[in-house]
Amino acid sequence: MGGPLQQVLWRWELDPPRFDQYDLNASLGGFLRELEAAGLLLPAPPAGSWDCTDCGSHCRLVYLDDARGISRVYAACSRCGPVAVESRQLDRFEIDTAALLTAIFEAHRVSVEPIDPQGFWKIGRVTWAGQSREVWFVRGSDSDVNAKAESLLATHRRACLFTPTRDAAQTWERRVPCIVVALEDVLDWIGAGFHLDEDVIAARLDDSEASIEKPKRGRKRGSRAAAIEALRQELNAHIIAAADHAFATSERTGTPELLPKPTQAELAERIGVSPPTLGRCLTDKAAPELRILWEAADDVYEVMKWRKLATRGSG
Ligand SMILES: [Zn+2]
Repeated sequence: MGGPLQQVLWRWELDPPRFDQYDLNASLGGFLRELEAAGLLLPAPPAGSWDCTDCGSHCRLVYLDDARGISRVYAACSRCGPVAVESRQLDRFEIDTAALLTAIFEAHRVSVEPIDPQGFWKIGRVTWAGQSREVWFVRGSDSDVNAKAESLLATHRRACLFTPTRDAAQTWERRVPCIVVALEDVLDWIGAGFHLDEDVIAARLDDSEASIEKPKRGRKRGSRAAAIEALRQELNAHIIAAADHAFATSERTGTPELLPKPTQAELAERIGVSPPTLGRCLTDKAAPELRILWEAADDVYEVMKWRKLATRGSG
């Protein structure tokens, strides 16, 4: 997105979300006229002041009746004198939040309802990717409105809150437990209607599902811990067997003999994990003793020393 729609969404965060002649004459103007034609803007009180089109001075407006009794508007410019202003040049519009929300979510047959017409709205229930969600909308920076929205949504973990802008969404993500989506990220204006990027919204919902199911991550960490413990037992058993073998051969022949250590693939098979998982266990920072055992198993004197230590430790 970008351009006029983004400017309108940014304006929606302001109080009031109003457009004047400056906007109507700028690059935004064409889009505002489309929104006005679609019934999404409401007339606002006319401008009470005027910037002189010749010198830029801020002018007071004067209303005078001409000879036929028709009211005319003049900008009283202190430099240029009175300048006639056409009254339609004083037109201003505000975003009709209920109408705009209804248009944005039109495909979902929602029933938009103000919780606080200043800035907090319930949009209704929407189904995305097979998941039905309560959908809410918050705009602006009124602290009473924000407090109301925050306390109401505190218990709505599975809701979906929309804001006009990305900045606001980032702020709201810290305030509420539900997912927050910026319309700025998912909305487009195509011809004479809005288009919501449902795929992006569904992906956000999937992400939030994944983070709610925390036990999954716990299991993963838990299975690594179980593999590390199984590996520790295997390596300990090997060191003890290797030490027995070393002492026995030393007694018999005068020279201790090293029992070949199992390969990583053999160990992986014994403890029921994949070779890559076994490799990760051996380099896990939380289990440095596994590397010490693994390296000790290569040296017959280390193996014998290790058993003496083990015997002393247990006795
Ligand atoms: Zn002037």
